[in-house]
Amino acid sequence: MHAPRHLILCVVHCVLCICFAPLCGRGASPVKMFAGVGSEDITPEWPVRRAFGNRPPIQQRYDRVEAKALALSDGKQPVVLVTADIGYFSLSLSQEIHKRVRRLGLEPRQVVLNASHSHSGPAVSPVLDVLEEDQIDRRYQEHFISRVVRAIESSLQDLQPAQLSTAEAECEVCINKRLEGRMEPNPAGPMDRRGRLLIVRAAKTEVLRAVLFLYGCHPSDQNDEAFGADFFGFAREELECRNPGVARLSAQGTGGDARVDHRDVSGKKFF
Ligand SMILES: [Zn+2]
Repeated sequence: MHAPRHLILCVVHCVLCICFAPLCGRGASPVKMFAGVGSEDITPEWPVRRAFGNRPPIQQRYDRVEAKALALSDGKQPVVLVTADIGYFSLSLSQEIHKRVRRLGLEPRQVVLNASHSHSGPAVSPVLDVLEEDQIDRRYQEHFISRVVRAIESSLQDLQPAQLSTAEAECEVCINKRLEGRMEPNPAGPMDRRGRLLIVRAAKTEVLRAVLFLYGCHPSDQNDEAFGADFFGFAREELECRNPGVARLSAQGTGGDARVDHRDVSGKKFF
């Protein structure tokens, strides 16, 4: 089922509005900080299953899927935030990544892994009652892990003096999707509508280098048999158009029971 394109773009627009407001964001860091970014295209280059739904492997894409890393450091201990357009980081996947980045001097507590939960991302881990262990393409899983590790390494190599600031604003495009256990709009249900930003600028020139935006909403509206990052990907593309060369990272918030608010005329059903 397709979400109307204009509603998806609505989400994008909200993210952008939030993103551009904080270009004069608050909370510039008083201590000397460093930041670096690494980015990898993880779009499958051969047929792979999608993250959710037990369907045959595909190779088509409506957008690229990416893994990115943002390293932040006070000059002593870096922390790396990783974002990826996959369903989720399983325990074994996380442990393998943590194991491989020890050679970079990183303890597990220094590496935060955030999956966008894109339903149209590639499958890298089994899903309870949906995808079995033996349905996961091991070659792609290895490809994914090595790309994430490479993004982390690149972000550390890219560390440069930086100004950090944050901003947030309400973004009303998501809605709670559970009503008495059914998949129905629940405007009174809990949801986190804050769009939150971490903004990275070059320390001396104040040139914008990177934006990480976090929003709690299910990226589950692009249901073609193709890979992509759903609304997160569209938002990143728009940011890229408006700010060429600026690194764009998107992170999932508390969006387990939230999805894009696209209801039919009755207002009681999703499209
Ligand atoms: Zn989901």
